[in-house]
Amino acid sequence: MAIEVEGTIETHYRNCYLCEAVCGLEIKTADGHVISVRGDKDDPLSQGYICPKGVAIEEMYKDPDRLQQPVKRSGSGWQEIGWDEALDFAADGLVDVQRRFGDDAVADFIGNAYGTIYGIVTHIGYLRSALKSRNSASLASIDHISHLITSALMYGHQFLLTVPDLDRSEYVVMAGANPLASNGSLMTAPGVRDRLKALKARGGKLVIIDPRRTETAKLADTHLFIKPGTDAAFAAAILNILFEEGLANPRSLAGHLNGLDEVAAALKAFTPERAEAVTGVEANSIRQLAREFAAADRAVWYGRIGTCAQQFGAVTQWLFSLINVATGNLDRPGGFMWNTPAVDIAADPNSDPGRYAEWRTRVRGLPSFGGEAPATTFAEEMLTEGKGQIRAFVCIASNPVLSFPNGHRLDAALASLDFMVALEPFITATSRHANVILPAARHLQCDHYELIFHSFAMRNMAKYMQPALPITDGGKHDWEILVALGERIAERKGLPVEPTISPAAMIDLTLQNGHYGKASGHPAALTLDKLKDHPHGIDLGPLQSRLPDCLQTADKRIHCAPPELMADLRRLETELFAARSSEELLLIGRRHVRSKNSQTQNCQRLMRGRNLCELFMHPDDLAKRQLQNGQMVRVASQTGEVSLPVAATEDIMPGVVSIPHGFDHGRQGVRQSIASEHAGVSANDLTDDQRVDPVTGMAVYNGVPVTVEGLYQAEKVR
Ligand code: SF4
Repeated sequence: MAIEVEGTIETHYRNCYLCEAVCGLEIKTADGHVISVRGDKDDPLSQGYICPKGVAIEEMYKDPDRLQQPVKRSGSGWQEIGWDEALDFAADGLVDVQRRFGDDAVADFIGNAYGTIYGIVTHIGYLRSALKSRNSASLASIDHISHLITSALMYGHQFLLTVPDLDRSEYVVMAGANPLASNGSLMTAPGVRDRLKALKARGGKLVIIDPRRTETAKLADTHLFIKPGTDAAFAAAILNILFEEGLANPRSLAGHLNGLDEVAAALKAFTPERAEAVTGVEANSIRQLAREFAAADRAVWYGRIGTCAQQFGAVTQWLFSLINVATGNLDRPGGFMWNTPAVDIAADPNSDPGRYAEWRTRVRGLPSFGGEAPATTFAEEMLTEGKGQIRAFVCIASNPVLSFPNGHRLDAALASLDFMVALEPFITATSRHANVILPAARHLQCDHYELIFHSFAMRNMAKYMQPALPITDGGKHDWEILVALGERIAERKGLPVEPTISPAAMIDLTLQNGHYGKASGHPAALTLDKLKDHPHGIDLGPLQSRLPDCLQTADKRIHCAPPELMADLRRLETELFAARSSEELLLIGRRHVRSKNSQTQNCQRLMRGRNLCELFMHPDDLAKRQLQNGQMVRVASQTGEVSLPVAATEDIMPGVVSIPHGFDHGRQGVRQSIASEHAGVSANDLTDDQRVDPVTGMAVYNGVPVTVEGLYQAEKVR
């Protein structure tokens, strides 16, 4: 039973939807309201763990700024309208633009909800097949496309994403990741602090490589400061040492590899001494780390957003994967492993394996991936006149003005559009540009299968959640909106209207035919009904070795030397090693446990306490500029400038500064009252949509050159 009833109080078991840890929650409701949220101690993965954001779900559920009905922008402001009128208006506006300017004139973008709302994954195809535009993009190209491209080129499918098997490892290296604040990314590991403490308690070692001494770094045995954007040079030197000193030992992987010798030959020039010159990490420390990692029995090297959203993001993820391969730690317990999901998107013959550079974008010629364009191209595609110009936009559960690089340029581009539709529950910095906003039902009102994040989990797991509260006032699920809009567009364009079934029915079919399904003969015999009887979820055991069966390369081997990435080594050689030190500072992002991108700032519970939106700067850098701790400063880059208080901290590397992302909700027209009170500034008014990793088209969010100058003293702003 998913619901326990005690008097008028009902108890529901759900997952938290606010980050990738997807902690199990026990939610009590009464009379249509949430009355308490706590960790579900019977969830097999999270075992009762919950962070401050999870508790805040109670307040977020009843946010008074949330739209209850679709709204349409008119000369006198926003006007509530009914669903049929809103959907017709949206379809008319989009089809009108396509009739005048062609299918590619309408773009769409899906944000984080891609992971948290399973109906968007199952039903986005209904909208996209009606739009037939190639200007589609998703959070992949602003968050993790380097990982997807690496998996596609090495293993044959973009969703063969490897995860660190933390719970069984003896030596863990994390670069550009701060799971104590983020709770893990591409690594579903709720309660990660306890998992890392357990690693140390069993005699294991944790090494953090990061330009900031993060919360996770403070827990580590070793922390190495590294200059932002240079992780590829660091990883190349590690591999070079492994090969040169005869430490490379792929163990049981040896019979599954192509091209490792070719990589070894290509990396000979990447010595630790040369790496020291660009990374700032001493050559001896690089050597020691390579030797220790090679000597560990079960080790894993993992990199995340700090190493992905940078100028050599794809090469970095590839080299990290190769460190695991060269030491025999891929597909090995305690190493870098594949989850075996109950619903395995990579095993779906209809899924896109990650077609790379099938076409290139109109203005800048950046490569497509998996049928999508890089999101970094949208502003220029909107602002550059000519055939194929984007003139309308469907923004799905996202706030690109704050999350895309060069946000103020995108802000201007959105204002220039002929038409815009937002599937979004708030009037945000982005949706304020829409002609119509379609607010889907709240997460707790929807059923949910943990489709995406259990694919990256530390254990194999399946969980289906029934709604905790009913939908009132005729509200709609996200998937129902996508289908209704897709159908209306198809009808207007004379296209066939595809029949549909619910996300739950789709998942039931896939579960039954999946790795643990009734049809497969697995003893778990999973069906949706069985999951309904297990509201805490079903534990399907530790990660299992999957080679070679999981590989989808034509020759069923791991491609260690994909030509696209080998070619980019030459760029690494010429651009990175040619770089010289400068007086400029390098900007990086950061995350706090009380925030998640731009989603959580309208919650009083999470915003009280110390201002989260400060510039972190090393005391030596303040002294050089005669700045005072707490003073207001102006931070300027090639694309823009922002003003915020500076906080001195020795936890950041000299020469590096940090601003958290997801802030600046104070723009005119935004209707998020608490977020507006704590507006802060957008780090993405400093990032540059033109500065990308050319392999992926992903923006350089980390390692942005900036200057900092003083404005006025702290007491004037506090
Ligand atoms: S760690 Fe993430 S999933 Fe868990 S309670 Fe916090 S926000 Fe929710």
